[in-house]
Amino acid sequence: MKPAANDLPLATLRRHWGYDSFRPLQREIVDSVLDGRDTLGLMPTGGGKSVTFQVPGMILGGVTIVVTPLISLMKDQVDNLRRRRIKAVCLHSGMTSRERNVAREHLVNGNARFLYVSPERLRNQTFLDDLRRIKVKLIVVDEAHCISQWGYDFRPSYLNIGRLRDVLPGIPLLALTATATPEVADDICSQLRMNNPRRWSMSFSRTNLNYIVRRTDTKIHDVFHILSRTSGSSIVYVRSRKRTADIAEYLNSAGISASAYHAGLTADHKEERQNSWIAGQTRVMVATNAFGMGIDKPDVRVVIHYDLPPSLEEYYQEAGRAGRDGLTSYAVLLTTDTDRGTLRRRVTETFPEREYIKKVYERICNFLHISIDEGYDTIRDFDLEKFCLTFHYQQRQCLAALHLLEQAGYIDFSEESDRRSRVMITVTREELYNAGGITVEAESALRSMLRRYPGIFTDYINISETEISSASMLDEQQVYDALLELNRARLISYIPRSRTPYIYFPTAREEPRYVTIGKNIYEKRRDIMKHRVESMIDYAFNAGKCRENRMLAYFGEKKECGCGRCDVCRDRNKDRQKRGISGIMKRNQELAMLMERTVEFLRSRPRGADFRIIEHGLDANGQDIALCLSQLCDEGFARLENGAYILN
Ligand SMILES: [Zn+2]
Repeated sequence: MKPAANDLPLATLRRHWGYDSFRPLQREIVDSVLDGRDTLGLMPTGGGKSVTFQVPGMILGGVTIVVTPLISLMKDQVDNLRRRRIKAVCLHSGMTSRERNVAREHLVNGNARFLYVSPERLRNQTFLDDLRRIKVKLIVVDEAHCISQWGYDFRPSYLNIGRLRDVLPGIPLLALTATATPEVADDICSQLRMNNPRRWSMSFSRTNLNYIVRRTDTKIHDVFHILSRTSGSSIVYVRSRKRTADIAEYLNSAGISASAYHAGLTADHKEERQNSWIAGQTRVMVATNAFGMGIDKPDVRVVIHYDLPPSLEEYYQEAGRAGRDGLTSYAVLLTTDTDRGTLRRRVTETFPEREYIKKVYERICNFLHISIDEGYDTIRDFDLEKFCLTFHYQQRQCLAALHLLEQAGYIDFSEESDRRSRVMITVTREELYNAGGITVEAESALRSMLRRYPGIFTDYINISETEISSASMLDEQQVYDALLELNRARLISYIPRSRTPYIYFPTAREEPRYVTIGKNIYEKRRDIMKHRVESMIDYAFNAGKCRENRMLAYFGEKKECGCGRCDVCRDRNKDRQKRGISGIMKRNQELAMLMERTVEFLRSRPRGADFRIIEHGLDANGQDIALCLSQLCDEGFARLENGAYILN
């Protein structure tokens, strides 16, 4: 079908992306943006988010600024656009100042339609001044929930977006996110100072996904059991790096091909394992939550969670990687009795004592040789392991302190450790051909780079020493030496790959007595985390209500009927078939009586009681009690506070 001549969005979509139609919600968002309205789009991952701003960006002309926190996704998107011959650049703190200058020149000289920028760059005054000199037509905030302190992934650097709005008044803004509760959605709109925003959201319901919770004492056997009775690509999520390897090994020995993935692997290993899984050569990926972002594999059949994630937002996102192709798929959560305690302990671990946090800050600065009042806008490699060994810190607790320091605005810690090697040729073609006095090896490496990496004259290009080596008959060490030689001869600028995470200092080092971790960052966020953890526990352990409905309710969607697919709905159906009509009536009477007893019990405890106590006090079936309690909460007769049920 040919788009109508006046349908510019569709024509643009066809011309640059080759699609014949928009996917659900894309068109609404595109039109809203083209109308010049501030817009909030709630789109699930894999729903085709980027089209919603890239199409209007092309139509509006000028520059579209895209704020996004994930450096690796940023690079992917820029490469993607460049492949479609659309000019795009990115700016983030992981780049050298030289690389940033190159990007800046492209931007100011009109050589970029899209600018991807990480939020911490928005603090930089030179950058903000540059923006005044170019024609910005649209501001896009990706992963917009990161601006909300009440969301599960607050990133303080997102608060800098306010400055963009000051520098670029009246420019329409599009905020995009995949998961936001109603409170977080409201907060996004107000934090981004959106003017009478239009909101578009897709239902969070996934009709081909079956949510199952399985209580067990032997999780590893359950993983095997589930995988041996299903087929197709699968992911097993765990919370520890070591466990990824253990489980993958177990599965392999049991005849199910599996591979392990976590943030500590080298970039090459990650890529290799990911590709093999995407191609279907490895069936199961056993991974930490570092895996999955930006991977769009449609035919994942099963996602198993070995451990409880700390929030329903995370669970929904990770489980939702199953069944993107619309075919029947399973999201299985394995639980055991100790999981509740483990998850609740994470709240305490995430919020170590204030004094401890301040000490960590002081020691980091000493460790990196930054004295008081120094360090503003600098970036330092930071070896967390070595740091923890030096000061006898427990890594997990130290990491928690780093995150709180980040939220208080003292540091930006980046664990993304796979910065690949980059090269740009710094002389003209002519100068290069006339350059003499370089070794045969250097010449050979240079020749193969010119063949492999077009564009190397104008910008830093990601290169691979391995690729160059196989194309040039040099071994990797020779390639490395050759690149260093060319760098010394000032023919290229070579930035070898780095595997060390880094810290960026947005402010100069403070004196210890001025280091403050505010109530909003500490107490309030801790309370909200408790609430998230309790919602997760409720999902996992309360078998009284349809799993999907519980999830939807969390995201502000109300449904009357159960999904019919989750374990709760299935059990209920089985029950119904077994008992017949008279059985249902008898059971309803029983439940009505139990409901009365539950209310009576809660009335006698004005300060509330947790599930265990109620179960013990009523001496009835736990699932039935859970059903009564959840109904009382749903209908507003009772509430759940820090794990205790209280009568309203
Ligand atoms: Zn259900």
